[in-house]
Amino acid sequence: MSDLSSLTSSAYSQALEVIASVEPRIAEATRQELADQRASLKLIASENYASPAVLMTMGTWFSDKYAEGTVGHRFYAACQNVDTVESLAAEHARELFGAEYAYVQPHSGIDANLVAYWSILANRVESPALEKLGAKNVSELTEADWESLRAELGNQRLLGMSLDAGGHLTHGFRPNISGKMFHQQQYGTDPETGLLDYDAVRAKAKEFKPLVLVAGYSAYPRRVNFAKMREIADEVGAVLMVDMAHFAGLVAGKVFTGDENPVPHADIVTTTTHKSLRGPRGGMVLATKEFAADVDRGCPMVLGGPLSHVMAAKAVALAEARQPAFQSYAQKVADNAQSLAEGFLKRDARLVTGGTDNHIVLLDVTSFGLTGRQAESALLDAGVVTNRNSIPSDPNGAWYTSGIRFGTPALTTRGFGHDEFDKVAELVVNVLSNTKPGTTKAGGPSKASYELGDGVADNTRAASAEMLDKHPLYPGLELA
Ligand code: PLP
Repeated sequence: MSDLSSLTSSAYSQALEVIASVEPRIAEATRQELADQRASLKLIASENYASPAVLMTMGTWFSDKYAEGTVGHRFYAACQNVDTVESLAAEHARELFGAEYAYVQPHSGIDANLVAYWSILANRVESPALEKLGAKNVSELTEADWESLRAELGNQRLLGMSLDAGGHLTHGFRPNISGKMFHQQQYGTDPETGLLDYDAVRAKAKEFKPLVLVAGYSAYPRRVNFAKMREIADEVGAVLMVDMAHFAGLVAGKVFTGDENPVPHADIVTTTTHKSLRGPRGGMVLATKEFAADVDRGCPMVLGGPLSHVMAAKAVALAEARQPAFQSYAQKVADNAQSLAEGFLKRDARLVTGGTDNHIVLLDVTSFGLTGRQAESALLDAGVVTNRNSIPSDPNGAWYTSGIRFGTPALTTRGFGHDEFDKVAELVVNVLSNTKPGTTKAGGPSKASYELGDGVADNTRAASAEMLDKHPLYPGLELA
């Protein structure tokens, strides 16, 4: 056991003792969560395992501090240490991504997107209606102004990727606030190939003339050419916003460079910090200088007090991501996704877009005669943790779905490589081939129930255990 892991072991053991002295059930659930994560194949594309240093940074008295405002300009007293933390996190973010400006306060990816949208509106909406009210931008409006403006505001149009093509709720999906604050339209993918069709995006943008063109995705298994998206945005005078929540780690690790790196091309880039970037749960906004002052109004526009303990952990995670080791990690994430995709394809499984070139593999489970819901549940019984996901033109809708989304960031952190991901594909195909759709109580076909063949779950868990034991989660961490 290295010094660091023995320190971590005693720190966590003692922390759990302290927690147990107040609410033992929480201490127990925390222990159990570690045991469960250690014993399962975590393939959820948006999850990872943050380092003990990142996790520990979140468990401090910074959690107790209020610090509304920005560095050096707070609405609360005694924020000198929060200022240090926030400045460091922002500095690491700017250096890591080569951004002009970074805002590290958003509590989550959704918050980061809301901050970005409001800053675009504040920065860009210049309408006669605003002038009439004597306001330069939307942040100067009173409640009564808002009332009269809602009907009158000029261009408040947003064009984003549709949910079933792999976009995110916050990219203009109707039931999300982004689909209400903007007049929204969506672009999809080519029905034949499943790939982004830039000419189709251009045609739609020319017709719709959006204020905001959003690029980025949650479930698209391919890289995006952000230089082309920039061209399209420029042709129609739109602000280009990229949500890199999913692939920020691949940008940080220099796997996505040139046209595939959104930072030099976009006006605003939003991200989460907890997915492929492997930091604490949270969000962040990178922006050009032009948008910096408007992004800084995230609080009070849509945020309250920042989570100082999480900003501190962001600084630690970003410092980790600036190490050379993170670049080799990111490359392995992408290589492993290739191995997983090849493993599926050679076993005749159907993949949306026919493969991957990022960290996501999207399996179409209709070829197994299953819905995404059935496949997700059967896999979970066998210790394979994934999530169901819509596929383009999904015949089973957004609840049952027809896809399973796999991601490689978490198991790559554990040290899985080509052979293990090939084995994962074999196990998944075996589970799904041995799963039959069930019936409803009335005897009709069910989209939820399923029957998993005898012994399949146990055999899969046993085969996984061999790989998981070889690549332990938090090696050397032993709880007393
Ligand atoms: N943006 C994208 C592309 C995402 O995939 C997600 C989450 O899955 C989010 C934003 C929202 O992140 P959060 O769950 O932290 O609010």
